Amino acid sequence: MSHDALLSDLRPESAIDRLARALVAARSVRTERRSDYVSLRPGSDAAIAVYVHKNRVSVALDPLEAPSLTHGITGADLQRITPATTYAVIDAASVGRAHDAVLELAFKALGWRAQGPRFAVGERGRQGAELVRDTCPTCWETIALNGECRCS
Ligand SMILES: [Zn+2]
Repeated sequence: MSHDALLSDLRPESAIDRLARALVAARSVRTERRSDYVSLRPGSDAAIAVYVHKNRVSVALDPLEAPSLTHGITGADLQRITPATTYAVIDAASVGRAHDAVLELAFKALGWRAQGPRFAVGERGRQGAELVRDTCPTCWETIALNGECRCS
């Protein structure tokens, strides 16, 4: 399915829909539809950069950069899920208020995830390099290769 078809099928709130469509129009991404979200990654061998839900987006960020990157986005909730990845969870109302800033944040996430294969450097000197596994944006557990999660 095309990006458009996937997003139409998900039927997100308008602020989320507008953001997601701006994102896929501006960058080359791979999209996948899961039970209740569409995931975006910069390439087939890259980790997921953005999860688009009906009423929120979750953006994967470098834990060291996440606080400064999201500083100007009111309502961004930072969830440090692994030593290698912090997710900024932003609801539809906040996305609507800060469309440009959230779009910029999503571009940063795609660029960051595109930097290498599915590895990211964790907190310096402590965890070292860690395989970045795709996680379920609902329960944050690792999802199976077929994309199904126990929580769905
Ligand atoms: Zn789950």
